[in-house]
Amino acid sequence: MTAKYLIRMDDACPTMDHDKWEYLEKILDEFSIKPIVAVVPKNVDDYLNCKESDPLFWEKVISWQSKGWSIAMHGYEHDMHFTDADLILPFYKRSEFAGLSYDKQAKKIRQGYKIFRDLNVNPEIWIAPSHCFDKITLQAIFNETSIRVVSDGIALNQYFEDSFYWIPQQLWSFKLKKHGLWTVCLHPNEMTIDDLESFRNTLTKFSTKIISYKDIILTKRKKNIFDIFYSFYFWRKYKLFNLIYKIRSSIKNYG
Ligand SMILES: [Zn+2]
Repeated sequence: MTAKYLIRMDDACPTMDHDKWEYLEKILDEFSIKPIVAVVPKNVDDYLNCKESDPLFWEKVISWQSKGWSIAMHGYEHDMHFTDADLILPFYKRSEFAGLSYDKQAKKIRQGYKIFRDLNVNPEIWIAPSHCFDKITLQAIFNETSIRVVSDGIALNQYFEDSFYWIPQQLWSFKLKKHGLWTVCLHPNEMTIDDLESFRNTLTKFSTKIISYKDIILTKRKKNIFDIFYSFYFWRKYKLFNLIYKIRSSIKNYG
């Protein structure tokens, strides 16, 4: 099977950068691409306060849902704390969930899920803020919601683990791949005009390889040796880049 790509857009909330989201929506419609959208049910994170709150935000979410976009629950309040807990994906030492007791995590998930359900929105996918969560988070999602799919994880294809179907998310821009399923994660609020333009150009190259979440046949595939090699390589590269970034910023601060 040749490589297939999914597009995921993070941090939709009433105070998102509406112009950028609208621009992206127009481009995606033009190419008939149906992305996954990570919606924060009750944002309190100042970092996502980009524009005035849109009173019609949830109508927009419903319109995305009706045109076949897949809605994901992106945490509860997008409110992160420092944590040393064992994370499933150790991207950062912060999380909205990891390190908290089962009861605290379950309460956040219950409240977040209720916001969606009360508004007739059906989130089918879990996306943790900053990719950071632990096994307790998964238990709470399993018990409090009917979500059984996670958009995250480092592998070459969809897999099944800890009672969830995982759709791996390994890219933040399009890269040419020969095989596998690749999710490209965008943060529209942070994109510049140049980023938006170059995204449009990239789509002309990749659009025939882009599928939607609903095209994926979820299976109970276990990670194989190739997934494990890729994951090892991914985290090595991630740690190296982090180290280079830290050295560069300490030189800059010193200078
Ligand atoms: Zn986020």
